[in-house]
Amino acid sequence: MLDTVIENLLALQECDAHRDNIENQLERIPLEITRTEEKIQQELEAIAAAKNAVMELEVRRKDLDIEIKSAEEQAAKYKNQQLLVKKNEEYAALQHEISGMADKISDLEDSELGVMIEIDDAVKSAKSEEEERNGSIGDLRTLISKREQHRTEFEAQLESAINAVNSAAAELDEKSLQVYQYVKKKAKRPPFIVALENQKCNGCHLRVPNEIQGNIHKKGELTRCNSCGRILYSA
Ligand SMILES: [Zn+2]
Repeated sequence: MLDTVIENLLALQECDAHRDNIENQLERIPLEITRTEEKIQQELEAIAAAKNAVMELEVRRKDLDIEIKSAEEQAAKYKNQQLLVKKNEEYAALQHEISGMADKISDLEDSELGVMIEIDDAVKSAKSEEEERNGSIGDLRTLISKREQHRTEFEAQLESAINAVNSAAAELDEKSLQVYQYVKKKAKRPPFIVALENQKCNGCHLRVPNEIQGNIHKKGELTRCNSCGRILYSA
């Protein structure tokens, strides 16, 4: 038969574990939210980078356009000059320049066509990337609002959990409570009150001396494991 003190201690241990669990969950939430916000930021940056790649290609295309126009103007100038020259050599020299300019324009137009194809591809991939990443961002935002909702729930639960701990502690005498607090601090991880089965502590699984085994049935005093320090009760 469990003695009343042990029963009350087990109740306190349960309330304590419940409160600790809520506190741990609450502690983790801000970090989880920060990490999720960082992921959203990364997604937004990736979307911006894809759009930027399109813009850079458009700048290249505009530059090529300008180069083509200036080459065309140069070619037109040579043609006008050609109308004015009288010597055959001068005419031939200008003809050479004109044909060089035509080659240059043709090369520039090829490059521009290449860039236009690149723009098409970049626009498509930026669009699909944006859609995909916006989907992820939506999921991540849902996650954040869920965690915020959990925080509100946990905060509400924490108050009643603390009250439960206080009520459970009020059932105990000062000395037993002190022993429990001491064991809790020392053992760090629950359980702090364990059964003694076949002379073995259920906390550390080590065998206790006969003296401890004998003490456990004596009323009025808590018995602790000589190895791990946990409070023992007879199973
Ligand atoms: Zn032990």
